[in-house]
Amino acid sequence: MTYLGSCYCGQVTVKISGTIDSIIHCHCSKCRKSSGTTYATNGVVKRDEFEITSGAEHIGKFGKVEGKYRHFCKLCASPIYSSNIDDQQNVRIRLGMLDSDIIERPMAHTFMTSKANWEDLDAGLQRCDRYEPGR
Ligand SMILES: [Zn+2]
Ligand SMILES: [Zn+2]
Repeated sequence: MTYLGSCYCGQVTVKISGTIDSIIHCHCSKCRKSSGTTYATNGVVKRDEFEITSGAEHIGKFGKVEGKYRHFCKLCASPIYSSNIDDQQNVRIRLGMLDSDIIERPMAHTFMTSKANWEDLDAGLQRCDRYEPGR
C-alpha cells in the first residue's frame, strides 16, 4: 500500500507505505475542538511506514499533556497526525489530509458521550452534490 496525503496549502506532503488501521470517527471534545468539526476521522499508521515527504519545517506541534502532541501545518493549520510518547511505534493520522483513495474503512464512532448536542448521526439529512438548497 502506498498512500499520499497533504495539508490544505500543499506545503506539507506525506507518504504512507503500509496499512491504515483502527480507523475511527472520534467525537471527543479534543478532536472536535482541534478539527473544528463534529468529529475527527483518525487512523493508526506505523511510524516507520509514515514519511513526511516535504515541508517538515512547516509542521508545528501542540500538546496540552507532555508527550501527547497534535502535529499540524503552521501555514494553513491543517491537522496532519498525532503522536504519543507511550506509543512510539505508531502515529495517528488525520484521514482528511489524504489525497489517495484507500481500501480500509472506519470501524466505529468513538466517544459518543462527548459528541456535540446538535449532532444527530441518524438525522437522515439530505445529501447535496454541491451547496445546500437556497445558496
Ligand atoms: Zn499547509
Ligand atoms: Zn478524539
